[in-house]
Parts: sequence; C-alpha cells; structure tokens
Amino acid sequence: MENLNEIKVKNMYAHMRAIAAIGPRPDGTEADHKAIRYIKVELEKLGLEAPGLPLEVPVIENMVTKLKVLDDQPYEIRCKPFLRPGLTSEKGITAPLVYVGKAFEQDFKKVDCREKIVFSYEDLPFEGPTPVECNFPAIKTANAFKAGALGFIFTTQRKDGFIQTWGLNRELDRIPSVSIPFGEFLKLKEKLQTRKEFNAHLICSGKVKKGFSEVVYSVLKGTTKPDRTIVISGSHHETPPGAGGANDNASGLAVMLELARFFTKYRTRKTLIFLSSCGEESGTWGNIEFVKQKQEVYGTLCEAVFIIDMVNSSENGMLAGPENGKKTDVRLNKMLEGNANALGYHLPVIDDPTITRGGLGDSFGWLERGIPASFIDGYHSDYFYHTDGDLMDVINPNVLKSVSDPVALTVMQLDSE
Ligand SMILES: [Zn+2]
Repeated sequence: MENLNEIKVKNMYAHMRAIAAIGPRPDGTEADHKAIRYIKVELEKLGLEAPGLPLEVPVIENMVTKLKVLDDQPYEIRCKPFLRPGLTSEKGITAPLVYVGKAFEQDFKKVDCREKIVFSYEDLPFEGPTPVECNFPAIKTANAFKAGALGFIFTTQRKDGFIQTWGLNRELDRIPSVSIPFGEFLKLKEKLQTRKEFNAHLICSGKVKKGFSEVVYSVLKGTTKPDRTIVISGSHHETPPGAGGANDNASGLAVMLELARFFTKYRTRKTLIFLSSCGEESGTWGNIEFVKQKQEVYGTLCEAVFIIDMVNSSENGMLAGPENGKKTDVRLNKMLEGNANALGYHLPVIDDPTITRGGLGDSFGWLERGIPASFIDGYHSDYFYHTDGDLMDVINPNVLKSVSDPVALTVMQLDSE
C-alpha cells in the first residue's frame, strides 16, 4: 500500500493540462486526433505499444450555426450545435417557433409541430418523463423528427449564460439541433405568451466528410497469469462541440496514464489493458465496438473493467444505475468504496436512480457482455459540465488522487486473487 504515494498528482495534472489545452474535440476532428496522438505518445514513453482501433465517423467541417428570432425587432440568439446534428443549407430554414415543454414523447401529442422549429428545455441533464427515466437528447430530437418538426432548439436550466451541448448518435441526426442559454429560452417562452406565433431563422450548415476516430489501447502483459485481464479505462477523449473537456474527460485520461506509469514499474501477475475510447458522448459506440471487435486483446478471462470518467468533480462515486435490468458490478463497486475508505478517501456507491438515471457511460458495452465493470463518475456535481467553462482554471488536481489510489489498490487486490 505504501507504494501508492508514487502515484503523483503532479503527473496527472500535467496530462490533464496538456489534453485540456487542445480544447473542444468532437470525434474525428483534428483536435480529436491531437488528443489521440498525445495519449499514444505518453503510453509509448512507458515502453508500451499503443495501437488503435480506427472507427469511421462523419465529420462536419466549416460548421456555421445561427439562430435569429424574426419578430417586429428581429434579434440573434447565441447558440451552439449538438454533436453531429442534421444540417440545413447555408441559407438555413425559416419556420414558426413552437414550444414543446421537455420534448418527451407525450409532449409532441399536444402540439402540431409539422414544418415548425420546436424549442424545449430540461431541468437536469438527461431528464426523462419520470425521475428515474433517462432521455438522452438523441431521444428528444428523434421525437421531434417523428412529429414532423424541421429543427430543434434546446436548453438546460441554469443560473448563468453558459450553453450546454450534447451528443446524439454516431451518424448525422435527421434534423438540425442547437443549444441556447437558459435565459434566452425564458425570453422566448414569454414572447410566445404575448404573441401567438412568430418565425425563427435557423442555420446549422457545414460540409460533411468521411472521418475516423480511434479507440487507443495498450497491453501490459501479466508476469505469471497473463491470460487473466483487468482493464483500466480513462473512458473517452472526445467532447461535444464547444465543451472545454478538462474534467470531461481529460481527468479520467490523466488518471489512466499515471496508473499506466505506476504499473509499468510495479508489474502485476495478470495482464493490464489501458484504454481510451471515442464515441462516448453519442451512445458509447467506441467502447461497444472495442468490446465486440477486440476480444483477442482482452481475452475470455476479463475480470474487471474500471471506467474513469470526469473524476475532477466535487462528488465522485461509482454510479450504479439500472439500465436494461443491469447494474454496474456490485462487487467491484464495493471493493472500490472499501479501499477508498481504507485510504482515507470518500468514493461512495451512488445507487439513487434519480441521480444516476440509468447512465452507465462506457461501462455499458462491457456489462452487456457480462463482463464486470465499474463506472466511476461525478457528472452530477460538475457545475461546468459540457460547457466552455470546463477548463483548467476551475479544477483541483488533488481530487484525482481520491480516484487513482483506490483504483490502483483494487487492481492490486484483484491481482493477488
Ligand atoms: Zn465523459
């Protein structure tokens, strides 16, 4: 246990700083490739090979998003696109604006949305029709498309002017979608109460080209039990458009890279795999593909997967959300919680469905295959989640130690079994 003090905040801070400095990095863009190169080079410095599983993804170049309210006194609203939205022409679309509440399926039965641009909001990220249900933005834009809407304007309730942006799917969505500040949403709603109908002009244009992102991985062969494997995943390197990406998720990658350094020095009997994925923000498709295509890497005796995602939050823990009747691994969660306690840290199992709402992040693809995975995450306590405020200025790197050390200790414990 005493060698855990060789896991250095200084190193994790340097990784976090380098990756966050790249800025927003949607899958397949030059910024995403820069993050991938950084991770590979850092793993190679440790004497590890760092191949990648390339995955095709459409990339939108020269993206322009503009939203204008066409009233007696027309005005523009600041907006940001979702990740891979549907596109308009350069001229954009003009259509009546209609309010659809929280954009749940039932909301679209109450209003005629055909040929209109809809606007909606949520109180909390991924809010669903009941407190325990999870409606990713992709579900809401699909609801709007089914109802015949031409465009989707969205906001998440908050007290400042930040704009939160969201992922959709691996492919381009069918209708254009943008996020706006919450204050602008309130203004629109008020306007609708005083005026019956008014138009909006929405541009969400760009050039689509075929692109690639990658799942990066390194294998550190076990000394005496190489067939048995443990995965330490820094979750994902990409971000939605316009998100700073320091906590989400340079933080998880920083922990993963420092644990790779630690374990190249203190070798384990079982094989360790270090992993960084693409596609997490739009349905965790990077991890799902890796699990599907790369069984030759993690083998048939994969005993544990640690997904480390946005762990510079004030309240990290293991999210144990129910989804498809599955949960993140109870035993791993308990081991992590117990080891955190033993080391003097706080890393609780969060089993409150109103907080977790079924979110399993990159643990989903593993759990689906019956492989034990734990999802270490702190999204519910990150004030700057998916905004351009997610920067190094607001982080406290010492928090990373409360995750890196319990994970390392749990890996060592599993290794001695
Ligand atoms: Zn994340």
